[in-house]
Amino acid sequence: MQTEFLIIGQGISGTWLSYFIQKANKSFIVIDNDQPNSASRVAAGIINPVTGRRIVKTWIIDELLSFLIPAYEELGSELNIRTIEKKSLIDFHPTPQMKIAFDERVKENADLLFHPQDQGQYQNIFNYDFGFGEVDLCYVVNLKEILPVWRNKILSNNQFLEENFDITELKHVDGEINYKNIKAEKIIFCDGIHSSLNPFFKNLPFALNKGEALLIEAPGIPSTHIFKKGMMLTSIQKDLFWLGSNYLWEFPNDQPTEQFRKQTELFLRSWLKVPFKIVDHKASVRPANIERRPFVGFHPTYKNIGILNGMGTKGCSLAPFFAKQITDHLIYGDQILPEANVSRFSKILMR
Ligand SMILES: Cc1cc2nc3c(=O)[nH]c(=O)nc-3n(C[C@H](O)[C@H](O)[C@H](O)COP(=O)(O)OP(=O)(O)OC[C@H]3O[C@@H](n4cnc5c(N)ncnc54)[C@H](O)[C@@H]3O)c2cc1C
Repeated sequence: MQTEFLIIGQGISGTWLSYFIQKANKSFIVIDNDQPNSASRVAAGIINPVTGRRIVKTWIIDELLSFLIPAYEELGSELNIRTIEKKSLIDFHPTPQMKIAFDERVKENADLLFHPQDQGQYQNIFNYDFGFGEVDLCYVVNLKEILPVWRNKILSNNQFLEENFDITELKHVDGEINYKNIKAEKIIFCDGIHSSLNPFFKNLPFALNKGEALLIEAPGIPSTHIFKKGMMLTSIQKDLFWLGSNYLWEFPNDQPTEQFRKQTELFLRSWLKVPFKIVDHKASVRPANIERRPFVGFHPTYKNIGILNGMGTKGCSLAPFFAKQITDHLIYGDQILPEANVSRFSKILMR
């Protein structure tokens, strides 16, 4: 089997990369092992333009948003599904200090942040003592549909193999990639946390980070907004909500823990005034890294071996943008943003 690009992994990164390669009329094959708790299959899909206790805008968010909204909409028309939904975020201030911090930021980011007049409007649904602010320009990406629908599309075009990629079978000779019966010009790893074990990219400064989430049924909560009080709560289908998450840098395995479930259930009992039922509990590991910037581009020595990874907590906003950059780099020789290009780690990759 001959192809131009061999893509390993079909999370949100591999999905967008294969989409843009298809749009450029190039051939590709995606290999994915359908790991049920991969980061993209556990994530909520929230895009939040602000972050942290200081409520600052996230890295290059204006540029990302102006690119990714039309990109998701175009993908949605091609797949005939709703891929992205705009929802503002109701940020319940957990302490009076956080309310003051929010007020300060409202002055600087009036386009994004505001304090709604009616501060009592959620008092029949949530307990909150210090009011709430609202963050505009938040979105929820429909990962639950995008991943399987894209997968079925490329499967029916014979561009997808459901199997485990075994790196010991990879041979690269004279600028050609050989994997089992596949010959490709280039291979690009979009395999999430598994790249941290990959002999070509394991020296990149991955800082893997585990997160857990509960799925709850709660018909009394409106699906119109994302709600936040330390954790995020967002609707994923009628009456079903995703609640998460935590961030653990040390963990024995990638499985859900009793501790998270108990703590989060207690938290829900104190936050929600409406009945709820926990229906599922998930955990995954984020392909995060020390710098909080993605890993995009090609190995300095093996120039036909590339990576699109390191999306951390922001795969839904970073993956489409950088999948397009790496595609334009491959087809037109365009530059990859230096802060994201793996060439910044050339020295350690050549060790
Ligand atoms: C609890 C939690 C909540 C999150 N919430 C959000 C959120 O709201 N918004 C947001 O933007 N981000 C969120 N994230 C982060 C987001 O999930 C990641 O940034 C993103 O999913 C990374 O996508 P990826 O495609 O790079 O990697 P992955 O999603 O890990 O995809 C890798 C793919 O490669 C496949 N694979 C791996 N190894 C092999 C192999 N050997 N052979 C074949 N296939 C292989 C896997 O099956 C998988 O399909 C969250 C993460 C967690 C854990």
